[in-house]
Amino acid sequence: MKRMTLLGTSVLVALALSGCAAQKPDAASQLNQQSVMALNWFQQSGEYRALAYQAFNFARLSFDNAPSLVGKPKAVIVDLDETMIDNSAYSAWQVKAGQPFADKSWSTWNQARQATAVPGAVDFANYVNSHGGTMFYVSNRDRKDAAATADNLKRLGFSGVNEKTLRLRTDSSNKQARFDAIRAEGYNVVLYIGDNLNDYGAATYHQDNAQRRAFVDQNHSRFGTQFIILPNPLYGDWESGLAAGYNQMTPEQKLQIREANLKAWNGK
Ligand SMILES: [Mg+2]
Repeated sequence: MKRMTLLGTSVLVALALSGCAAQKPDAASQLNQQSVMALNWFQQSGEYRALAYQAFNFARLSFDNAPSLVGKPKAVIVDLDETMIDNSAYSAWQVKAGQPFADKSWSTWNQARQATAVPGAVDFANYVNSHGGTMFYVSNRDRKDAAATADNLKRLGFSGVNEKTLRLRTDSSNKQARFDAIRAEGYNVVLYIGDNLNDYGAATYHQDNAQRRAFVDQNHSRFGTQFIILPNPLYGDWESGLAAGYNQMTPEQKLQIREANLKAWNGK
């Protein structure tokens, strides 16, 4: 009984201490904490998986329906992260470890080859590669992580992963030049698949959200046919699109910008 009381007291002391800490979380950990619900949805909900299957079901229909051009083989250009593979465990690590995104830890994650497949992605890629098409995996992962990335993809069952089809970031994260190169090689690119508007070309690169929304509205009829989008509430250029210079801001400033961007009812 006495032991229980002692244990109970120490638990209370621990709770009180953690309560004090929780009352004043620093801005950096508050930023990370705001990702928790998005991670819960991404990792746990059936709805996320349904959207991914829906995207790849549409992609397959569009691939099949795209007209064949004589002498120009069909190609599909896909992004990798949060399009074909799921890195949400890296984002969850950021929350648990209280760490911001950083090139070094991201590279360590890439080298660990622990990304999982997005639902429907492997079957779609292998369908394209076995039905007269070529999959091009165009990603802004760093070239130093190319071997690990290829290894990770192959282990998950993606076909056609090689030096010709895996095109990682060289000098710029703007993918337009890599897209143009694939077309210049004689491919009929029938479909672009991504989780970021920049996965469709240069039009939205370094643009704010008003411009990004305008691009989507102007191209609304292409979504589901030429452009396929996967949901990613964890990160993306939509976040830096919240304000000019967002990526250079302090955590306190980022929190203020996020709050200021809410469209709220006045409660009456
Ligand atoms: Mg991506």
